[in-house]
Amino acid sequence: MSPRTIEMSDRLYAYLLQTGVRESEDARLLREETQALHGPSGMQISPEQGQFMGFLARLIGARKAIELGTFTGYSALCVTEAMGPDGHLIACDVSEEWTSVARQAWKRAGVADRIDLRLAPAADTLAELIAANQQDRFDLAFIDADKENYPMYFEQLLQLVRPGGLILVDNVLWGGAVADPSNNNPSTQAIRAFNEAVHNDDRIDMSLVPIGDGLTVIRRL
Ligand code: CA
Repeated sequence: MSPRTIEMSDRLYAYLLQTGVRESEDARLLREETQALHGPSGMQISPEQGQFMGFLARLIGARKAIELGTFTGYSALCVTEAMGPDGHLIACDVSEEWTSVARQAWKRAGVADRIDLRLAPAADTLAELIAANQQDRFDLAFIDADKENYPMYFEQLLQLVRPGGLILVDNVLWGGAVADPSNNNPSTQAIRAFNEAVHNDDRIDMSLVPIGDGLTVIRRL
């Protein structure tokens, strides 16, 4: 053992899933359905991450959440299930195709009336919420949309999320590319710059958690 995060072999990962995750039947069905779509199923978060996000939502008593980048709806389902019947989530995405899978899954799980899908660029939806005086109204936000716009989404969400609320940011380790100096594609550069800015931001408390592809948990001070 060493004082660092453990490397995850396939065998160990299977063990983690088996003994460390309590995934709902509806969530499991949706995850398997997405994997069978032959689409970009890598855009779906892992079950242990979905559970962790739901756990955080319950921990802070979240009732109002927003996510940017819904894909087939797995993360929205995990967080909405966790918030319970009084919870409400705004799901932002631009794909009619992928979110049609999400709508069906949410209906099957009985949470469709608690999720408000907004098919529009996330920055537009966030700007509308700010214009509608929704500042400090959200308990939890999840950023998982286009990486180049992470800094803009973060600034908008810092207005919408209440003090003490959480902003969760996905793919912050970007398959390891952030630590590879020879990788300078636009998404890698954007995530790298975003991570450095968050690290130095005194408006928030933060912890980069090596779950999935890296999830930064940010608490607004
Ligand atoms: Ca992601």
